[in-house]
Amino acid sequence: MKALVYHGPGQRGWDTVPDPTIIDATDIVVRIDTSTICGSDLHILKGDVPETPPGTILGHEAIGTVQEVGASVSTVVVGDRVLLSCISSCGRCRFCKEHRYGLCLGGGGWIFGHLINGLQAEYARIPFADNSVYKLPDEVSDEQVLFLTDILPTAYEVGVLNGLVSPGDTVAVVGAGPVGLAAILTAQLYTPGRTIAIDLNDARLESATKFGADTTINNGHVDAIAQIMELTDGLGADVALEAVGTPATFELAAELIRPGGRVANIGVHGHSATLHLETLWGRDVTITTGLVDSYTIPQLMRLVTSGRLDPTPFATHHYSLEDTMDGYDTFADAANTHALKVVLEGAQSSTRHLELAAAGAGV
Ligand code: NAD
Ligand code: ZN
Repeated sequence: MKALVYHGPGQRGWDTVPDPTIIDATDIVVRIDTSTICGSDLHILKGDVPETPPGTILGHEAIGTVQEVGASVSTVVVGDRVLLSCISSCGRCRFCKEHRYGLCLGGGGWIFGHLINGLQAEYARIPFADNSVYKLPDEVSDEQVLFLTDILPTAYEVGVLNGLVSPGDTVAVVGAGPVGLAAILTAQLYTPGRTIAIDLNDARLESATKFGADTTINNGHVDAIAQIMELTDGLGADVALEAVGTPATFELAAELIRPGGRVANIGVHGHSATLHLETLWGRDVTITTGLVDSYTIPQLMRLVTSGRLDPTPFATHHYSLEDTMDGYDTFADAANTHALKVVLEGAQSSTRHLELAAAGAGV
């Protein structure tokens, strides 16, 4: 089969590799119908993720069709269409039993395209299938649920739910990349009073408005703290969601909240940030951190199925699976291409889209 293979920092190929097979009785093998690229894939390609060995197939966000099932798999059968989450769950360890799959101690967590071969390929081996894949209802297209594999549950669980976004809140989202935009979108489920997007990039801020932001602030041009204080009678925002992953943006999020407010950190940080306890100690703030668990996928799927949530505007570019390398170039050059998410479509995915369109399902 063909797959996108990481060959060490800065090097990748669309290579011919052996077809995946069942190794453990809990595995399935799927045909990848639709896949997408994540900022983490770019980090691996840059060499920022040393635990990913050269030779690994990248990708951890995809929709597929079951081709083969291991002897002990009981919840899916050949032919089922399934969502493959960025997080796998052994289903047996302490953390999986608490639905904290991201912390899985039994060989799950973020493994695809990181510790084992991933999903930007024609076929993939999926461990712990009974606990880790989600059967898809016939009425949703691949693209409608593709972003439930990572950015939506990340933004919703680690941002909106950890930050306890509540009706009427002023919610400030620092960073309007795909994850920040998904936070803006899913925050709307809780009817905030005002959603403020903060980014250095005007194109991203324009997208933020489309995803539900009421106010946008380019903090490269204006003082974000001063503007938020002006909007909130000098108190600060109720909730700040950090969706960048730099010391400056974490410190900005901690500075713009009101006394008693909540800061939910989503960004992955490579450097230490300063926690200003000299100003925060008496302000009753709550700061949360987290790795996505993806336990909200079923809930998000019900919202998509019922038409209450539409993640399809994230799909700014489409490529066929064999043009995955071009998809990477477009995604990596987001400043010029304005890419949010690049959809990689296998032959079956395109067929499915055509079929659904012909049936008037509005893909
Ligand atoms: P991205 O790089 O595409 O977007 C980041 C955005 O932040 C960009 O629009 C950029 O213009 C903006 N930005 C950069 N510096 C800024 C600054 N100083 N002030 C304001 N805005 C600034 O990233 P993404 O894919 O949207 O992901 C966001 C973060 O979420 C990353 O750190 C990613 O690793 C992390 N993430 C975390 C989890 C988790 O489980 N916690 C899961 C997935 C992704
Ligand atoms: Zn991802």
